[in-house]
Amino acid sequence: MNEYDSKRIYDVVKEIGFEKTDQYKEADCYLLNTCHIRDKASEKVYHEIGRVKKIFRSKKKPLVIVAGCVAQAENQEMLKREPYIDIILGPQAYHKINDIILNFTEKLKVEETEFDAVSKFEYLSRIQNKVGKATSFLTIQEGCDKFCHFCVVPYTRGPEYSRPFDQIINEAKSLADQGSKEIILLGQNVNAYNYNDMRLSNIIGEIEKIKNVQRIRFTTSHPKDMTDDLIEIYKDSKKLMPLIHLPVQSGSDKILNLMNRKHTVKEYLKTYERLKKINPLVEFSSDFIIAYPGEEEKDFLDTLSLIKEVKFINSYSFIFSPRPGTIAEGLQKIDKKISLKRLEKVQEILLDNQIKKNKSLENKIIEVLAENQTDDKTKIFGRSEYMTPVIFDGNKKDVGKILKIKIIKSNRNTLFGKMIDNLDKKVA
Ligand code: SAM
Ligand code: SF4
Repeated sequence: MNEYDSKRIYDVVKEIGFEKTDQYKEADCYLLNTCHIRDKASEKVYHEIGRVKKIFRSKKKPLVIVAGCVAQAENQEMLKREPYIDIILGPQAYHKINDIILNFTEKLKVEETEFDAVSKFEYLSRIQNKVGKATSFLTIQEGCDKFCHFCVVPYTRGPEYSRPFDQIINEAKSLADQGSKEIILLGQNVNAYNYNDMRLSNIIGEIEKIKNVQRIRFTTSHPKDMTDDLIEIYKDSKKLMPLIHLPVQSGSDKILNLMNRKHTVKEYLKTYERLKKINPLVEFSSDFIIAYPGEEEKDFLDTLSLIKEVKFINSYSFIFSPRPGTIAEGLQKIDKKISLKRLEKVQEILLDNQIKKNKSLENKIIEVLAENQTDDKTKIFGRSEYMTPVIFDGNKKDVGKILKIKIIKSNRNTLFGKMIDNLDKKVA
């Protein structure tokens, strides 16, 4: 979502004449969009600002803006600690950036952290989401009311908000008109989307009708919101990709309860089995929090069993990171050595699943969306239906197309193949 936000911030500031540069020294304005989900998020910001300070030591200071969830969470604290920062901009207030920049005077620092999702998206709907790649993000929902005990999102992104249905469809059509072949619907709880009883399944159904869109994905979902209508859509949808990212966090009911996740392992498995029955091509990926306070060896082993049962691919795992203001912040942490050992074990099994899945594709022909040329321009980078990176020989003209690729070899993260056919022209 930060990628989407950064892109949209850029779409907005372009209106007042800003252009991106990759030359630090040239910048008049330096904007850092931040994530607060784990670790020493604010320390990373101060470190980065330190770098900018050094670069501009003997030059006129650029305008320095800290945006995103760290800005939301630490606001005044940041302005006090680092006077080099000029503007603090929360994730629900970035549509105000042009007014703030135009009215900025050096003597008056600005902190804008209002939760104003309605006017943000109203404003953004008037500014085109300009396509940069074959695949585009589209935020449909923001914020969260679930309050898992480890998570800062309800405090940094605010309460659950669903964008108006028509606004989303118009943005999807505009992305398709500009050449987007894949749309990734975004939300902190994307499947909690509910606008006048229109649900995520309705959005998928409507986007499915847009001719030029060939792939639809959504992330991130909560297991509790995998409703019947959403499960059913996997039966007939031709464009919804078969990888479902459905974070489970732990395979132990005790830990799920301590985390306030609001579902059991059995319920999660039931969703998995239903989806597999409806569409055997479906695979799951997940997020895991390892060494959550209270996790005993038995709980950890339950997580390993779940991973072996579901055979998750393309998953993420993290050691629990205490976040300021959350219920889990003050809980007794698990010994660092044990935590690391558990993380290594989880990652080993996840990787093993991944290696097996990739190996099983060798000598098979799969469909790949070509996203861009590699840096040396000799090859194409694309993604399989399961989001796995695929590298193959090709030209610039292949970018943005769905291609048939024969997989020659694989490693843990990537598939390598050669082009067999261009499917693009054949898809209705
Ligand atoms: N809404 C999604 C859900 O409920 O599963 C997850 C969204 S959350 C922004 C993304 C991921 O960050 C979570 O699934 C979780 O694994 C991880 N995460 C969040 N807070 C964390 C923490 N305090 N420590 C470690 N990982 C964390
Ligand atoms: Fe965070 Fe997801 Fe839990 Fe909401 S449901 S509090 S976003 S982990």
